[in-house]
Amino acid sequence: SSSVETLEFQAETRQLLQLVIHSIYSNKDIFLRELISNASDALDKLRLESLTDSALAETTDLHISLEVDKPARTLTVRDNGIGMTRDDLVEVIGTIAKSGTAGLLEKLKESKDNATEAGLIGQFGVGFYSAFMVADKVTLRTRRAGTDSGTQWESDGEGTYALQAVDGLPVGTSVTLHLKPADSEDGLADYLSESKIRQIVKRYSDFIRWPIRMAAERTDADGGSSRETDTLNSMKALWARPRSEVTEEEYNDFYQQTGHDWLPPAATIHMRAEGTFEYEALLFIPSQAPFDLFSRETKPGVQLYVKRVFIMDDCEALMPQYLRFVKGVVDAHDLSLNVSREILQHDRQIAGVRRRLVKKVLGAIKDMQSKDAERYAKVWAQFGRVLKEGLLEDTDNTETLLGLLSAASTHDPEKTTTLREYVERMKDGQDAIYYLTGETRAMVENSPHMEAFAAKGYEVLILTDPVDEVWVDRVPAFDGHRLQSVAKGQVDLAESADDGKETDADRTRREQDFADLLPWLTSTLSEHVKEVRLSSRLTTSAACVVGDAHDVTPTLEKMYRAMGQ
Ligand code: ADP
Ligand code: MG
Repeated sequence: SSSVETLEFQAETRQLLQLVIHSIYSNKDIFLRELISNASDALDKLRLESLTDSALAETTDLHISLEVDKPARTLTVRDNGIGMTRDDLVEVIGTIAKSGTAGLLEKLKESKDNATEAGLIGQFGVGFYSAFMVADKVTLRTRRAGTDSGTQWESDGEGTYALQAVDGLPVGTSVTLHLKPADSEDGLADYLSESKIRQIVKRYSDFIRWPIRMAAERTDADGGSSRETDTLNSMKALWARPRSEVTEEEYNDFYQQTGHDWLPPAATIHMRAEGTFEYEALLFIPSQAPFDLFSRETKPGVQLYVKRVFIMDDCEALMPQYLRFVKGVVDAHDLSLNVSREILQHDRQIAGVRRRLVKKVLGAIKDMQSKDAERYAKVWAQFGRVLKEGLLEDTDNTETLLGLLSAASTHDPEKTTTLREYVERMKDGQDAIYYLTGETRAMVENSPHMEAFAAKGYEVLILTDPVDEVWVDRVPAFDGHRLQSVAKGQVDLAESADDGKETDADRTRREQDFADLLPWLTSTLSEHVKEVRLSSRLTTSAACVVGDAHDVTPTLEKMYRAMGQ
């Protein structure tokens, strides 16, 4: 073979390599995702070019293969894609062409902690260089489609790389990693292990559209062994297919496999956005809430992909906390593979995607409400408590959320009611939507506060979720009717009902009857109450405790105490 040429990395590349080698990423497994993603891009490019260039005949059986050589301690990622010329190699592997690199590297040098580093580095991505996280030497051999000569590139990731012409290479690229020893403390797994490789591919590259193959050792029943080639990825990017071509069964299978649920989803949302920021979304509303829905650690269940490459689970930037039960995938076309959570949180386009997805999810529940009441009732029973958190977090959608809300009510002990239905039943002259919060339905129903309302035939909503204590104070009105607790402040029923109205004279007489008792009660009970006053709220009970209009309710007090506040 020909002579070896040693070249220096560009200064910035050298700095970046140092950062990579001295591990910015705690998750080293992603090197394989990066190399597979490059191989997949190379296959895409060859296919595209072959459409217009008939000279590129070798476009059958495009695939990626992974090869393990245990004695040599190497892992090779091979593709039969577009390949690179010698000049391509110098240009794209030896240099960082991306603008703003210098400034970013300055910031990186100043940054003290790993999290900031990871956030910064995510802004342009390490790509190919991530190979040096797991390898102390990388050998790349490549031949550009349509050319005769191949090139070998080799480096230990320090200051230089070696280039050499090589004859007889197939079209495409192979990247051979001379692996560092496994070191769990350093996050370095045994990347020679077949099962580890399978696991990484399944997790990060399952939906790559080209087959990822690996020769696997098989033990037969009689103890002999043979080698067979397996395809490791399913290649199913269901979300990328047109809706009309996907069956309900396929959607359900996909959800149950990826969402680890044994029940089919209650609703499936599949959409594609075109224009300046393209993405596909495939979202599911589960039929059943997970057991840990209310644990502090539960994160939104939406995965982010970039052009079929898995980027992250639990992408908070795409789904608000109160829709954390929604599962699925968003595949954005115009993001960097190394985009970080920090960047996503501040990205205006991502914020736009999130707004749209929220509308879609709430719209799907609303649809159910009008078209499939039974299914809606089930979904509300499972997720209503969480959806009500939206009334605290998401003021943009207050109207929609109030429209979705169902609550128990004194109207019908068997059924819940929506606010719309409540409003339709409101009595003439009733201007507020009455409710009472409490720990259980029985406690609320037996509350002395209810008596006057029951006597007047006014419907009262029975709110027993802890979150009810909070949202009722945040939401001013529904459809122009304010929400009014029957247990807070002065509720003047006499004024709004025409029968049994107390005259001023009656009231003065009543007040005189109690003139001595009230101050005595107030001072005797001073440790427990602020004031004892006459009430028109009660019909059969002698007394009840009423909160000030802005007091914390007893249930909320308990909730705060339970939270240690
Ligand atoms: P990115 O993929 O974001 O461009 P990388 O560092 O992963 O960044 O790769 C740099 C470049 O090297 C790619 O854009 C591509 O031109 C080239 N390259 C890397 N791997 C391959 C491959 N397997 N086949 C062809 N070209 C490759
Ligand atoms: Mg890449």
